[in-house]
Amino acid sequence: MSRIVGIDLGTTNSLVAVVEAGIPYVVADSEGRRLTPSVVHIPSKGGDLVVGLAANRVRVLHPAETVYSAKRFIGRRAGELSEDDRNVTYPVQGQGSNPVSFPIAGRDWLPEEISAEVLKKLKRYAEASLGEEVSRAVITVPAYFNDAQRNATKQAGELAGLTVERIINEPTAAALAYGLNRLKENSKIAVYDLGGGTFDLSILELREGVFQVLSTCGNTRLGGDDLDRRLVEFFAGEIKAAGGPEVLAEPTLTSRIREAAEAAKIALSEAEVTEVSLPFLTPSFSWQRQLTREELEVQTRDIIQRTREFCVRALGDAKLSSSDLDQVIMVGGQTRMPLVRKLVGEWFGCAEFAETRGDLRLGTDYHKAKGPLLNTSQNPDEAVALGASVQAEILAGGFKNVLLLDVTPLSLGLETFGGLMNVIIPRNSTIPVKAGEMFTTVVDQQPSMLIHVLQGERERAKDNWSLGKFTVEFEPVPRGVPRVGVQFEIDANGILHVLARDIRTGKQQVVEMKSAVDVDDDAVQQMVEESVEHAFEDLRARQWVEAKLRAQETLTATRKGLEDCRDDVSAEYAAEVDEALKQVDAVLQTEDAATGFGDPVKLKESVRQLDEITRDLAEVMMDKAMEAMLRKRGLI
Ligand code: AMP
Repeated sequence: MSRIVGIDLGTTNSLVAVVEAGIPYVVADSEGRRLTPSVVHIPSKGGDLVVGLAANRVRVLHPAETVYSAKRFIGRRAGELSEDDRNVTYPVQGQGSNPVSFPIAGRDWLPEEISAEVLKKLKRYAEASLGEEVSRAVITVPAYFNDAQRNATKQAGELAGLTVERIINEPTAAALAYGLNRLKENSKIAVYDLGGGTFDLSILELREGVFQVLSTCGNTRLGGDDLDRRLVEFFAGEIKAAGGPEVLAEPTLTSRIREAAEAAKIALSEAEVTEVSLPFLTPSFSWQRQLTREELEVQTRDIIQRTREFCVRALGDAKLSSSDLDQVIMVGGQTRMPLVRKLVGEWFGCAEFAETRGDLRLGTDYHKAKGPLLNTSQNPDEAVALGASVQAEILAGGFKNVLLLDVTPLSLGLETFGGLMNVIIPRNSTIPVKAGEMFTTVVDQQPSMLIHVLQGERERAKDNWSLGKFTVEFEPVPRGVPRVGVQFEIDANGILHVLARDIRTGKQQVVEMKSAVDVDDDAVQQMVEESVEHAFEDLRARQWVEAKLRAQETLTATRKGLEDCRDDVSAEYAAEVDEALKQVDAVLQTEDAATGFGDPVKLKESVRQLDEITRDLAEVMMDKAMEAMLRKRGLI
């Protein structure tokens, strides 16, 4: 049986991906390019068709003979087209229920014939890369495509000499590429897809291993091109003001500026500032300027904002709210723009540490991270093609070995306050896997945080195996202010990469630990047995440590409060508080040096008594604070 390739037949660009040795990858052309513009030039003088990048290059010179965005027309009747749809530089023909065609160079071309040319090119790239004939494909289409559009896409494949084994939805393919088929049953995902010319938002639900599209909406005329156009207008205005030519009146100049604008936009996804240089717009006029990310954002923010209403609508159609979602995944080249990620994260109420799901653990309080995970872990322009290749491999009966996925033999985690083990990746998780949590400091002006990576099933850090340690440094600030996101990732080879990022400064460190999977079976057995054997004692130890942290905090706060208010309370009452403080202290002293813990129940009881006695003290403190405030404002 021959191999099946996965194809993302896009409005602007198309890609072909294959799975080899269990690894999906996008096939590059002979010059290493992986995106093929979905553009076909039909020379009126006769001669061979030109497809892809070369066709895109001649588009400005031969606008009436170069077909782009054929996907907007595929499988549609002429009567369904809007004014806007027909607004292209090549002729579009057809009326009423007739199919759409393009009369170029003495014949009528159907949209599927144009797409077939793009597919033939991709087929050739795949054949050159694999060194064998390729005759079967999985092709993706937008989730909103109707039967006619799907059938026409299938026909395009057949015209290109491919048996189309399946047409799958683009958001489903993206979710497969993100590996979300491994999420738990009924997980819900939003796929935010902002490409060059189109925007789609789809909500999927995983049911029995299959993604169901709950809702989908978008705009077929909204995308990265609009941002480019906005920049072109902005530059054109400045060029004119600087005494330069009227660039918008000249297609070749407009096209040069559009290229520079897109390049600047792309550069600003990484850099804060970039240089735009346009030498010799006329023989006597050159133009250049620096463009900052902020300027780009000011110019284009409203365009990105326009995607928001579709997100709201799709959620409404699916009768969900954003907190029902497990993940929001990013697809389409334009989602590399930091502002897009930031706004989407805000709209969906995504957890702050965007690349991992984690609990926000602040001090000893424990806040569950609210909202879905904003998942940007895959290459957004390749996700759809990669997902199509994964589907193709499944259809071809592959992935049998890959499905026997490795699991983590023992839990992996970090040492946290009080010497406890905080699990980040539980035992038996399927690898590759990624997870994270947010931490902060418990001491004022703490200059650094020690990241101590542990493996094992025991509650206390010291009973687990230490895989390594490193320190994250930050500027000293009050406790609770630093935010350190820690992410554990076990790659397909079982190597653990630990990333620690200071969220405030964005500084990060990645440390590679030894294999987290290669553990001797006997050692695993022993660790698990020990954890069962010591379960009771371990639990008590954890309870003790947690109670102790709380007791110490209460002691510090009460002692300070009592000092501040000693003159405002009676001597008897002060003595009563002192006694309760002593009681707590006394229980703390009972900590057994050998086991490292005491009786958590007794400790909690003594803290409860202290809390009760200090209720009056708290009121006095509150009154004092109020009085000080009023005095400060001159009100008393
Ligand atoms: P797609 O249709 O998914 O290929 O997306 C193409 C769009 O993504 C074009 O408008 C590109 O300019 C834009 N794009 C590609 N890479 C980046 C990047 N790094 N930052 C911002 N936009 C990008």
